[in-house]
Amino acid sequence: MEKKMVTVYLSGELFKVPEGSTIIMALEYAGFQLKRGVGCREGYCGACATVYREKGDYKLKGGLGCQTVVTEGMAITQIPFVPAEKPLYELETLTPDVGTFTNLFPSVFRCVACNTCTKACPQDIQVMDYIQSIIRGDLESAANISFDCIRCGLCAMRCPAEIVQYDNGILARRLYGKYLAKKSPELDNRVEEVKNGKYDADIEKLNKMDRDELSKVYYDREIKIT
Ligand code: SF4
Ligand code: SF4
Repeated sequence: MEKKMVTVYLSGELFKVPEGSTIIMALEYAGFQLKRGVGCREGYCGACATVYREKGDYKLKGGLGCQTVVTEGMAITQIPFVPAEKPLYELETLTPDVGTFTNLFPSVFRCVACNTCTKACPQDIQVMDYIQSIIRGDLESAANISFDCIRCGLCAMRCPAEIVQYDNGILARRLYGKYLAKKSPELDNRVEEVKNGKYDADIEKLNKMDRDELSKVYYDREIKIT
């Protein structure tokens, strides 16, 4: 049966692509060779931030190119990189409190609680809530809420206060992990096991597998939920 096609604009140029394609699939079908702005293709890496407008809708929307399905008349442009304020720091010299954010990310205190970032997030993260947690100095809450952030940059692009939410989130998680989280003896044991070579043979076996074998092992794995 012949595939149904939809018409889309890719960086302003008109193409017909198969119905049901994701934006990444549409770009490749149209002949674009993707060197940047694409990664895992499964919604985890955050590399394919994309801006689009649907036919008849005035709203400019953002999403992940690998997860967003094209619609008739959609106008699409990819953002291979979102420039961001990114101070360098030595975690060992920092303290896990709000003062660290005052020094490194003073912009976070400009938050006007508009919630635009939350609406922009393709991971459904309560972005505004983790920013507000940072402002209150509650790094545990900020670390937990921001945990699934994939650093796609879509929140920062929409923020009227020009805050780089994801860099604040990762600093909160680093500070929480290093200074505040309860220590785990299980983790210490596992690190010892790794150091002592317990997994060397398994890693060597994985290194020798081709992509299909690796994929099978990955998807067949037993997931333990405790
Ligand atoms: S918090 Fe921001 S950078 Fe992280 S996934 Fe959501 S939109 Fe992307
Ligand atoms: S978009 Fe910016 S100003 Fe608005 S709630 Fe999010 S961080 Fe605050």
